[in-house]
Amino acid sequence: MIGITLTTERVAGVTVRPQTNGRRTNVPGHVYLLHFSEPVAHARHYIGWAEDGRLFRRLAQHEAANGQATPLVRALIQRGGSFTLARTWGDVDRFFERKLKNRRNASQLCPICRAANGKDTA
Ligand SMILES: [Zn+2]
Repeated sequence: MIGITLTTERVAGVTVRPQTNGRRTNVPGHVYLLHFSEPVAHARHYIGWAEDGRLFRRLAQHEAANGQATPLVRALIQRGGSFTLARTWGDVDRFFERKLKNRRNASQLCPICRAANGKDTA
């Protein structure tokens, strides 16, 4: 009887994950949660993703409300509002961003809202 051992290939300490559909699913980055000072079209949050090392450049684009800012954040800034970087998740890919967005419960993920609602006991 022949035993088959599945191994994870390691190159220079980096785990190479299998690619399933040709998409780059394992680009490392940060997912960030922005908490708005006021609601925009009933939204009080924006969840985005930035490649590793580009998070603060991405936030600066949002703050500048320029063409590279997401429309929701641009609308917030243009009406005189502001945003707070409430939370980040490190070493995650774009699919994690999609997963969080699909949950549609950003206020429960947001430490600022949780504190305001008295849900943080720590
Ligand atoms: Zn919030």
